Amino acid sequence: MIQPDRIVSTTCPYCGVGCNLRVHVRDNTIYRVTSPFDAVVNKGNLCVKGRFGYDFIYHKKRITTPLIRKVPQKPGQRTQAFDRSEWREVSWDEALDYTADRMVEIYQRDGSHAMAVYCCAKATNEDNYLLQKLFRALFRTNNVDHCTRLCHAASVVALQMAIGSAAMSNTASEVILSDVFLLTGSNTTENHPIISLQMKAAVEKHGAKLIVVDPRRIEMVNWATLYLPMKPGSDVPLFSAMAHVIIKEGLMDREFIEQRTENFEAFAQSMEKFTPEYAEQISGVNRNLIIDAARMYGSAERAAIFWALGIAESTHGTANALSLINLALLTGNLGKPGTGLNPLRGQNNVQGASDSGAMPWHYPGYQEVDVEENARRWEELWNIEPGGLNRERGLTTTEILGAAHPGGVRSLYIMGENPMMSEPNLNATRKHMENLEFIAVQDLFINESGAFGDVFLPAAAAFEKDGTFTNTDRRVQRVRKAVDPPGQARPDWEIICDLAARIEARLGRPNSAFWAYRHPEEIMLEMGRAVPAYAGVRYEHLEPVGPQTPVPTPGHPGSPYLYADTFPRGRAKFHPLEYVPNAEMPDDEYPLVLSTGRVLEHWHGGTMTRNSSLDELHPVALLDIHPEDAERLGICHLDPVRITSRRGSVVARAKVTEKANVGVVFLPFHYREAAANLLTNDALDPQAKIPEYKAGVVRVTKARWEELPTDDYQPRGRY
Ligand code: SF4
Repeated sequence: MIQPDRIVSTTCPYCGVGCNLRVHVRDNTIYRVTSPFDAVVNKGNLCVKGRFGYDFIYHKKRITTPLIRKVPQKPGQRTQAFDRSEWREVSWDEALDYTADRMVEIYQRDGSHAMAVYCCAKATNEDNYLLQKLFRALFRTNNVDHCTRLCHAASVVALQMAIGSAAMSNTASEVILSDVFLLTGSNTTENHPIISLQMKAAVEKHGAKLIVVDPRRIEMVNWATLYLPMKPGSDVPLFSAMAHVIIKEGLMDREFIEQRTENFEAFAQSMEKFTPEYAEQISGVNRNLIIDAARMYGSAERAAIFWALGIAESTHGTANALSLINLALLTGNLGKPGTGLNPLRGQNNVQGASDSGAMPWHYPGYQEVDVEENARRWEELWNIEPGGLNRERGLTTTEILGAAHPGGVRSLYIMGENPMMSEPNLNATRKHMENLEFIAVQDLFINESGAFGDVFLPAAAAFEKDGTFTNTDRRVQRVRKAVDPPGQARPDWEIICDLAARIEARLGRPNSAFWAYRHPEEIMLEMGRAVPAYAGVRYEHLEPVGPQTPVPTPGHPGSPYLYADTFPRGRAKFHPLEYVPNAEMPDDEYPLVLSTGRVLEHWHGGTMTRNSSLDELHPVALLDIHPEDAERLGICHLDPVRITSRRGSVVARAKVTEKANVGVVFLPFHYREAAANLLTNDALDPQAKIPEYKAGVVRVTKARWEELPTDDYQPRGRY
């Protein structure tokens, strides 16, 4: 057995559960990952990604030297260059000087609105704080966003509207204290595997009752007391019908409503029309199941709601989330352990990147950019002249690319994101990327977006740097360097600081803001000076386990659940709701609804997992299709199938499974060979600006074998 030189304690770089890892290192090489049984988040359990998905850092395609494109790219004629021969290796000085020169040239010519940045939910709090600071303080733009826009923006907006805070209210592991928990729009076993273990234990060992509401027959249905197989997009009528029953049967918590909420009367009036019969017509769920679910949730002593992207990724995602929030307010299921509103955040640090200000409408700590006193607070902290910061809300991710034209956004800086896989309607995204004047990319690999870049800045992976992540239930945890970065790759925060100093010098305002940090902890301390929820975060207090925000003072134990006495906005607010259909509904030409999402073995655009040994376990895109639909279309298991929407067409292989419900197919979005987002609809929720990933319409036809994307596109592993 190999003896390690050292075992380094750190946090998993994949999902928002934030499992604690022990990384075994020998000769500066990671060879094994374990987890201790006393790990507070995961009790020694790890899913396949955390246990085996670390080897992407050693992949031969990893970029370890700064690169500049050999052929200068022109707007409208920009091409993708995956091949290293199309790039030339340069020194860090040349790469950073070139990046600063190009961005400053565009800024001085076109102004703040021409500049934009994608921060990254895979990077640390400190990396994200610094990158948004660079763009706000130096380029005076709020065109700062990251992929939370594409996953939970609707949850964030809805929770801000109703409560005044956007994070999970409770700790995921508290589910064992719930009498009832409602799970919707979350394939938890594949997307948050360790939380699914806690949910299963809640049912099996603690007697909790589970209500699953989902258009797919996900694995958690096997643990459910009630399963409501809803049609995609029928969330508002279904959850409002539950509210209707709870009101009619007097199951609401009147004391809580009177003392801690507002706008109940208007809300209750709007629920009148949402009868179970009406909801049945729209959702396809039997009215008696809806009534049973309402009674089960409404009469529980402690009831929690967990949701994920199936709720948020919709043109009415904000209303969907509000329909869940209304249920919790109606029954007083907030402010106690085992209850709450719990949006399960996707990426490892999507909560932290949002907290750190990687958003266009908010400074760090969700301080709105268009509120004068907030702007002044950050001007003072960043040593910026009064009135210097931009007071206008910036563009969101999808809006940034939509504005990629002369007179709009000209320069895009991408840290670790992959819009050419993650944005909806990729054919349109491609045109937008082609239209940009300058693209800088800071990442580990030249992915589908990096291949459009002018300059590539090689970054260290999470196992190669220090910092913190904040997990889905607000726990701030240490990320520790286990091994040195390869070649010339550097931690993101160091790259950002060196770039910022160069930009300052070119703008003629040296030392206008502080960039000479010696360690990420100094960055966290700076953020804490203006963000009350992080004011008490100190690296030495993150041992052995990090506290959950808010952490208002050093040594504060953290906040496992929120709102025991009050809400950030004072009283929580009920919101009346209306049913709005999906942007597209099935018709003769496109008769099936397409839902997209993840599989257990892969992560997002695949930049990490598809360059790891995990790809061997699930190397191809499979379209989940119900046996009835498959038979009607003459499709057998693993047949090649063409999936076509109004926006594009891809070929994948069919997985005939009863996990899909009749009329609804599912395609994972990790595979560039059959990119699901070539099909998805870029229609947006008007409030949260989140796209309709979960309910585009498609037709599926049998394809020829030679239409499959590559010769070796053969399924292996678990099907
Ligand atoms: Fe990592 Fe999430 Fe798996 Fe835990 S559940 S090991 S955090 S991917």
